[in-house]
Formats: sequence, C-alpha cells, structure tokens
Amino acid sequence: MKLARRVFRLGTESAFEVLAKARALEAQGREIVHLEIGEPDFDTPPHIVEAAIAALRRGETHYTPSAGIMPLREAIAKEVSCTRGISVEPEEVVVTPGAKPIIFFTLLALCQQGDEVIYPNPGFPIYESMIRFVGARPVPIRLRMENGFSLDPDELRRLLTSRTRLLILNSPGNPTGSVLSQADVEAIARVLQGHDCLILSDEIYGRLIFEGSHFSIASVPGFKERTVILDGFSKTYAMTGWRLGYGVMPKALAKHITLLMTNSNSCTATFSQHAGIAALTGPQEPVEKMVAAFRERRQVIVDGLNALPGVKCPVPQGAFYAFPNIEGTGLKSKALADLLLEEAGVAVLSGTAFGDYGEGFLRLSYANSVANLRKALARMEELLTKIVC
Ligand code: PLP
Repeated sequence: MKLARRVFRLGTESAFEVLAKARALEAQGREIVHLEIGEPDFDTPPHIVEAAIAALRRGETHYTPSAGIMPLREAIAKEVSCTRGISVEPEEVVVTPGAKPIIFFTLLALCQQGDEVIYPNPGFPIYESMIRFVGARPVPIRLRMENGFSLDPDELRRLLTSRTRLLILNSPGNPTGSVLSQADVEAIARVLQGHDCLILSDEIYGRLIFEGSHFSIASVPGFKERTVILDGFSKTYAMTGWRLGYGVMPKALAKHITLLMTNSNSCTATFSQHAGIAALTGPQEPVEKMVAAFRERRQVIVDGLNALPGVKCPVPQGAFYAFPNIEGTGLKSKALADLLLEEAGVAVLSGTAFGDYGEGFLRLSYANSVANLRKALARMEELLTKIVC
C-alpha cells in the first residue's frame, strides 16, 4: 500500500504499548501491578454520571455546535477566568473530544514547514509526534533533574529563533510532576517578550497540585492574547473515557480551531458536554478527596523508590507521576522497564518514552492503591537487589 509520507512521522504513547504487553502477560496467568497508564484509578463522581444519564434521557442525543454547547463554554469561561485571574469570553473556548485534539489542532492551525516549535523533553510524547506530523521542526528544551525539571529561561533564550512559531509549556508536567512557579513563568515570559511566538500552555494537571499553586502564563499581562490554554476533564474529574477537553484561545484562532472540529469530529459527544457542566458547577469535594489520596500515595512511592538501590527520586509537586533517576542501577531505562515487567510483574514506562532526555529515568504512575504501590516497591526491591551490587 502506498501511504502518505506524513504517516511515518507519527510517534506514539508507549503507555498503550506497555499496557498491551502487560495484558498479554496477564492472559498467561501472570499478576501485574499497573503503574504505566496515566489515568486516575477513581471512578467519575456520581453526580457527573447522573447529569449525563439525565441528558441522554432528555433526548440530548443530537449534534451540537462544533465549538460546544453555549452553557458549557460559559461554564468553562467562568472557571478559567476565575482560576487564572483573566477575563475569558465563551467565544474564546473550543470544546473537544479530550484535550489531546487541542495539541493537534493548534499545531495544524499555526505551524508549517520551516517553523520551529520548542517543547519540553522529557515531555508528553504527543508534542513531538504532532510537531513532526505537521511538518514543523521539533526543538527540544531539556528539563533537568538538578533544576527540579523546570524550564531554564536561559536555555529557552538560546533556542528561540526568528522561525520559532510556538513554545509548548506543561505544568504540572508529565512525566516529571514538576510545577512551574509564578516566578518561573514570569521569567519565561520575560524571555518571550519581543518574540512573536505563541504559547501552547498544557494545564491538564492544573488542579492536581500538592505544593504551591498553579500559575498560567496566560495570567501574565499581555500573554493571554498569545496563549492557547489546554485543559479538560480527563484527569481532574477522572473522566478519561468520556473524551472531554477544551482550549481557550484568541477568537481569531478559535474560529479556525472550530473549523478543524467541524472537519474532523463535527462536535464533542453531547452527553459528555452536559456531564462537563455538572463537573464544573457541582460539588468539588471529589476532586479534593482525589488530590488528598494522590498526596498520600506520592509519599509512599517517593519514600519507597528512594530506599531502592541505585534509585533517586525527587518529590513531584503535581500530577500523579514519579520520575526517578535509575542511573545508579547501571541499566538503561528501557532495559530496566522491560526487566521490571517481565521478571517482577511491575509495568512502568522507560523515561525514553518521553524523549531522548528521559534516558536514565523511569516513569511510574501512582494512580493505584497504596497496597499495590507497596507490592510494586517490594518486587522492585527484590529485583534491584539482585542487579545492583
Ligand atoms: N496533555 C498531557 C500532558 C497529558 O498527559 C494528557 C494525557 O495523558 C493529555 C494532554 C491529553 O488528555 P486527554 O485524555 O483529555 O486527551
């Protein structure tokens, strides 16, 4: 079959591949602890589920406008205005099936051959995949453990050129769990002053934060006009399977992103949109409880990892990932991740699944029970004690 060249530029999320491998081992009777997949292990709060069921029963089973139903766009505009301290209008909001399409659509709408896009590495693998897919040049900015995986403004200054079209930021970050402080974000904004590149600010983990608070670059005076905020319901409300996310962006861009929605999905599932209104306007205690549970698990996983031979794990400030350095084990990341799955029955991701600068690290999702985390740590200890002298 003759395929278009662009399909060979697509990357992937290896979490799905590792999950498939783990499931195959389970089918052979092995018991696996799953620390690979990036989704909350909690169920969607019941009032959100009920709102979706009620919408279906009312007959909300038809197409909606491509950018989403107005009450949801209004609720999102209110939420984002309030949490980021900016004034957002519903017309600046585009609702999408999950937040991922905002990455794709933003790159499609803004970038073409010859353009450069700076993105965090290690970082969410879809950034690099989509940058390559649209024909732009990926320019990784290295996040270093010694800087708390923050983005170094001086390094950013060196990477910016007249061809830089977009900078992707992600805080709290996947896979590192690092959070950019207000001072960090303001330092980045100062470097961007005088450059006309836009910013895609991936804030999908913005509510899952354990220390400090989330600060968006859109909150810096003059930056809302050049920022696309990506956010959604998957992580905050444990709604990964509902496929509900959104982008907040200047109206001139929203018009084109809406057209991309019309051309690709028509609209986001109607019942999911109604569930989204309930999520934003209903009680927030379930979110608070989930964050409290993640905080407890974070302690268990970080303490446990730091007690393992050859492993050093910084304390992540947000999201639900630990990103330990494993160089002391003498093994490469992928080799250790494979051994852990095959020999110890613990599914984790190699840091290299998040870019070349992820070598030397593993990513563990601690969206799992404390009992399972302890089981995984005990198995890792048994394996590593044999390997590391
Ligand atoms: N951005 C980051 C950093 C993520 O980790 C994810 C999901 O893993 C997404 C975006 C996409 O979220 P969604 O499932 O809503 O498409």
